[in-house]
Amino acid sequence: MSGLGGKFLDYLYPKQCLGCDLWFSFGGPKFLCSVCEGLTINTQPILRRSVEGVIVYSRFLYSNQVVAKTVQALKYEHIFDASEVCGGWVSQIFERFIPEETVIVPVPLHVSRLSERGYNQAELICLAATQGRAIPVKTDVLVRTRKTEYQALLNEESRRTNVANVFSVNGVCDPCVNYVIFDDVVTSGSTMGDCARALRAAGAQKIFGVTVASTHGDVVAL
Ligand SMILES: [Zn+2]
Repeated sequence: MSGLGGKFLDYLYPKQCLGCDLWFSFGGPKFLCSVCEGLTINTQPILRRSVEGVIVYSRFLYSNQVVAKTVQALKYEHIFDASEVCGGWVSQIFERFIPEETVIVPVPLHVSRLSERGYNQAELICLAATQGRAIPVKTDVLVRTRKTEYQALLNEESRRTNVANVFSVNGVCDPCVNYVIFDDVVTSGSTMGDCARALRAAGAQKIFGVTVASTHGDVVAL
């Protein structure tokens, strides 16, 4: 609920902060308490790194506990409000760094994991990030051809072999269009790299990556 009615309910029913689990109310920010919001304000630098020759922009370091908890709340605890928070964070990247004529391609889940979880968190964040903008989010471009172990449970070497050649592309890509591979988090870069290889093999020539968080990256000047 939004508007005055929603505000009234916020007043009556405090919310639990996604970042620290604290209960708060009385006109605070919607999903984060003021302390956690302070740790994720827009003045923090955007990060950039290169994965397989693709520039990947990330909004925050994954070592930021507020960010990690918010991403995990969406991914593992089915707290959908977290997609709005994450979407708000990455929308700045789309505004500032991603050119026109862009198609966003969320990293897909395998069909069995999609039916297990019921949604693709990367897709939900993309949709929240692009609300009100004419940037298409395409979920039928990349396909995950086999189920893989959770990357979070593996070391770097195993991550590479875990996702090697698991993505393919439906049809062909337009060499004039920018393809933005979107994921919630980039760690070793194995998933992002494999998606980029699949897109290139299908003819894409302009590829970027965008994530909410990254384990590392160079600071981009604000
Ligand atoms: Zn908090």
